[in-house]
Amino acid sequence: MWLVCDECHTEVMISRLTRNCIEAPCPACGASMLSEDDYKIAKKAMRWNSVANWLGKLAGLFRQVETVQIHTHVKDGQVSRRILS
Ligand SMILES: [Zn+2]
Repeated sequence: MWLVCDECHTEVMISRLTRNCIEAPCPACGASMLSEDDYKIAKKAMRWNSVANWLGKLAGLFRQVETVQIHTHVKDGQVSRRILS
C-alpha cells in the first residue's frame, strides 16, 4: 500500500502497515503522513485488500487473470482504492 503526503502528495510505498508508520515524516517535506485515525482506517482497508486479493487469485484459477493489485490511499480519514490490472 501507499502512504500519501497531505502537503505535497508524495507517495511512499510500504510493505507492512505497523504502528511505527503513525506520524511517519514525508521524505520530501517532513509533514506527518499518517495520523492515528488514518492508521486505524488503513488497517481495516488492509484486511479488505487481503480478501480481495484472495478472491482475485480464486478468479485466476478459472480465468487466466493476473493477480489483482489494489492501490490503496488513506487521506483525511477517507480510503480510496484503485484496481490496477
Ligand atoms: Zn510531503
